[in-house]
Amino acid sequence: VTRVDERKPENRIESYPYWRLDVWSADHLPKGRIERIYTHWSAREYESVFPAYHYCIAMRPGGEILVVETNDVRANMRDVRVAGGAPYAAHTFGRNSFAIGISIMAMSHATPEDFGPHPLTVPLVDALCRVGAGLARHYGIAIDPDHVMSHAEAALHDGYFGSAPEERWDIARLRPHRAPLEPYEAVETGDMLRAAMREHAR
Ligand SMILES: [Zn+2]
Repeated sequence: VTRVDERKPENRIESYPYWRLDVWSADHLPKGRIERIYTHWSAREYESVFPAYHYCIAMRPGGEILVVETNDVRANMRDVRVAGGAPYAAHTFGRNSFAIGISIMAMSHATPEDFGPHPLTVPLVDALCRVGAGLARHYGIAIDPDHVMSHAEAALHDGYFGSAPEERWDIARLRPHRAPLEPYEAVETGDMLRAAMREHAR
C-alpha cells in the first residue's frame, strides 16, 4: 500500500535531512554564535514539519520518532532584525537572533482541556529534551531559564501568553485538564523540561 503524501514539499519530512532519534547527534552542526534555545509544539499533526524551526520532532504512524532538520542553524547566527538579510527560521516573535527553535510536531486543534487528535506523548517530549540537550552541549549553552525557554515562557515575558489564537501556550501544559490555563504552569513546565535536558546532557 502506497500512502499518498498530499503535504506541500516544505511540510514533508523527506524534503529535509532527517534521522531516527537514537542516531541523531549535534556533532555535524557548524560552530557559531548560538546563545539560546526555544522549545515549541507546532499545533499541527505528527508528520507535518515546518521550516519555521531548525529541528522538528516528528512521529510516524507506527510511533517511530524522527529528528528533522528543517532549517540551517547558520541562518540564525546573526541579528535577524537587520534589514536585507537572508531568510531565517522565524520561530519565536522578536527572539530569533542567535537562537535555535526546536519543536514537537503535535497538538493540532488542541486546547488546554482537550489535546485533540495529535496530543503530546511522553516519548515526544523526551525526544525534544534529548535534542535540546545535544544542542546546548554543542553550542555551550547553559540549560537555565535565561538561555533555554519554551515559547510559552517567552510569551509570558513579552505579553502574549495564553490559548487565544493570537497568543501562545507551547509548552505550558504536558497533559490536558479542565483547570484554566495559568501563567505559573509555563514556568513549572519549563523547569521540568530543563531538568530533563540536564539529565540528557550528563
Ligand atoms: Zn511556538
